[in-house]
Amino acid sequence: MNFDFTEEQRLFAESVRRFAREHLAAGALKRAHDPHFPFDVAQLMAKQGLLGITLSQSEGGQGGTLMDAVIAIEQVAAVCPRSADVVQFGNFGPIRTFAEYGTAAQKARWLSDLLAGRTVMSLGMTESDAGSAVTDLKTSARLDGSHYVINGSKVFSTFSPEAQIFLIYVRYGPGLGGIGSVLVERGTPGFSIGAPSTFMSGEEWCELAFADCRIPADNVLLGPGGFKKQMAGFNVERLGNTARSLALGRYAFNAARDYASTREQFDRPLCEFQGLQWKFADMAIKLESAQLLLYRAAASADRDLPSAYHTAVAKVACNQTGFEVASEAVQIMGAMGFSRETLVEYCMRRTRGWMIAGGSIEILKNRIAEHVFERRFDQRKRHSAAAE
Ligand SMILES: Cc1cc2nc3c(=O)[nH]c(=O)nc-3n(C[C@H](O)[C@H](O)[C@H](O)COP(=O)(O)OP(=O)(O)OC[C@H]3O[C@@H](n4cnc5c(N)ncnc54)[C@H](O)[C@@H]3O)c2cc1C
Repeated sequence: MNFDFTEEQRLFAESVRRFAREHLAAGALKRAHDPHFPFDVAQLMAKQGLLGITLSQSEGGQGGTLMDAVIAIEQVAAVCPRSADVVQFGNFGPIRTFAEYGTAAQKARWLSDLLAGRTVMSLGMTESDAGSAVTDLKTSARLDGSHYVINGSKVFSTFSPEAQIFLIYVRYGPGLGGIGSVLVERGTPGFSIGAPSTFMSGEEWCELAFADCRIPADNVLLGPGGFKKQMAGFNVERLGNTARSLALGRYAFNAARDYASTREQFDRPLCEFQGLQWKFADMAIKLESAQLLLYRAAASADRDLPSAYHTAVAKVACNQTGFEVASEAVQIMGAMGFSRETLVEYCMRRTRGWMIAGGSIEILKNRIAEHVFERRFDQRKRHSAAAE
């Protein structure tokens, strides 16, 4: 068993780090506090080959692996945490599900703009009454001649204020087998995008409303029965969220380490106090162990689609580690860590959200428990015959 990067991976990591230092270091603080998607960074990354890393070259991608995409997140986030969102968008987000299952015509229409960083795609899965219980979603798609008519609404979609194209989970019919997904363009009649609301992380989202919104039948991404495939694609998205959690935790760790090496109180640098040394030791252990789980999930992915179990274990470990380490880093840096003078408080706020997004920690622990007991635990209330 080899725990080191291959020579190729090492060289790739170095080249991404060089790119990040050269183009992203300046402005990293400002970028973190700007809610707008950094299209300038996306276009730079597109030229550098950092969007579509795992897509084939014939599709405009780089023909790399999921592990390469994880390395890109780590190297970019180490310099500019906010820019790691661009790596997420271009490699892990709905773009990945789209590239996996889209038709040639759909890809010809939208993929090149996405991979060039000219536009972003947003995922509309969650509804006000269907959060963790996502299969309760009600947004419907009804066939009407050569079109589908969409009705319903979505909440919390990342990039929704600026996306041009939306991957929307819909219901064609009852039950799990009735769920699939469609692609809806901004500006389609009957599709309205509400005013932005803001998460604690500073990210904005808009309510998406569909009122008799007609889309061509060609915009179907996955028909009825597509839910399992969507989830296979969504495990990639989860892994990007996992990698960013860990990378932002590490960013905060490094900032706190540098601070503790130079900041003096009681005539000594902070790092000479054992109370703080043990915090660093605990943080290092958490980061190293979560990183191994992340790499296992990425490296053992089948056709770059990671296993649900490996993804769940890695996501819980990295979500918890990222937040706990960033929060400890704030504590170690005192008021400076709590201030917007540094990015440490930003890392804490961002990592907090990923404990909820993309399958909350609790939902993933439910999945892990099912793996442990090799049986399914239905989360729904059992209806007794008498009650019906
Ligand atoms: C930063 C961020 C970005 C997001 N981006 C997107 C996006 O791009 N697209 C999109 O569609 N959605 C997005 N979401 C929404 C996200 O998918 C939901 O927040 C998530 O699925 C949880 O749903 P909920 O918030 O409605 O919480 P609820 O489902 O109401 O859950 C509330 C609490 O109860 C717990 N809980 C629920 N059921 C169980 C159970 N069976 N066992 C144990 N605990 C349980 C949950 O873990 C949670 O702690 C985003 C959310 C955040 C925070």
